[in-house]
Amino acid sequence: MPGAVLGSFEISLIRESTYWWDGGAFFGVVPKTLWSRRTAADEMNRIPAGFNCYLIRTDEHTILIETGGGDKMDARARERMKLPPEPEPLPAAIARRGFDPEAIDIVVNSHLHWDHCGGNTILSGGAAKPAFPRARYFASRGEWEHAHERLVRDSVSYIDANYDPLVESGQMTLVDGDYEVAPGIRMRRAPGHNRDMMVVTAESGGETFCFLADMVPTAAHLQPSWVAAFDLYPLQAIETKLHWLTAAAESGWLCAFAHDAETDFARIAKHAKTGFALAE
Ligand SMILES: [Zn+2]
Repeated sequence: MPGAVLGSFEISLIRESTYWWDGGAFFGVVPKTLWSRRTAADEMNRIPAGFNCYLIRTDEHTILIETGGGDKMDARARERMKLPPEPEPLPAAIARRGFDPEAIDIVVNSHLHWDHCGGNTILSGGAAKPAFPRARYFASRGEWEHAHERLVRDSVSYIDANYDPLVESGQMTLVDGDYEVAPGIRMRRAPGHNRDMMVVTAESGGETFCFLADMVPTAAHLQPSWVAAFDLYPLQAIETKLHWLTAAAESGWLCAFAHDAETDFARIAKHAKTGFALAE
């Protein structure tokens, strides 16, 4: 059951879809002989991954964290990822799981890589329209500025139609550093994957949920030195991971990964050999 109760909050996983992506990109300098024991690769070295979004329902708000891969990849890109040829609009995917997409009044993007905000907007007649018309969207200002720098290293990760129409219309708020989007729900800067990525915490009834975003994209990345090849600042990524996973393990947080294809929710424990692991 992809749902959890946390104090007065109800948290549900919406796995927009499962896609296949290069295992080497996911595990960087980790030898395949090690990572392939955790996740088997297909004949093209791809491993299954999820576009994981989380819906948090509080007494006052319905908050969507991340919006998945969206509808802006061409047919070839979709085929490479083993995605169906036609994307399902995220509001329809949410409705199909029994939730009312129109109830969503807050959307949070941990960062603006296409696989985290692709469902913010829907292409219609050549224009990108908000997928959640009554929602206020939140993203990091530093990340938005970085997206527009168009650096050789990572410009491929950004598709402006996922956020610029929302910034232009005033529907997206760009936040400077840590920010409380609703009572108990906070975006918190966790640099490493890139400079301004945010994790999202939700606190209710003395319990804490933490969406780890691309700091720990799958459960296999709990080992601090297992850093993805696409992380811009690997040493900082390790430091940031140590900081957040120590807190998660010591305080028994409920955690969630941005791209794990199987794990819906996880508790983290310290582990003598690997540093951290899923709690038994
Ligand atoms: Zn990313």
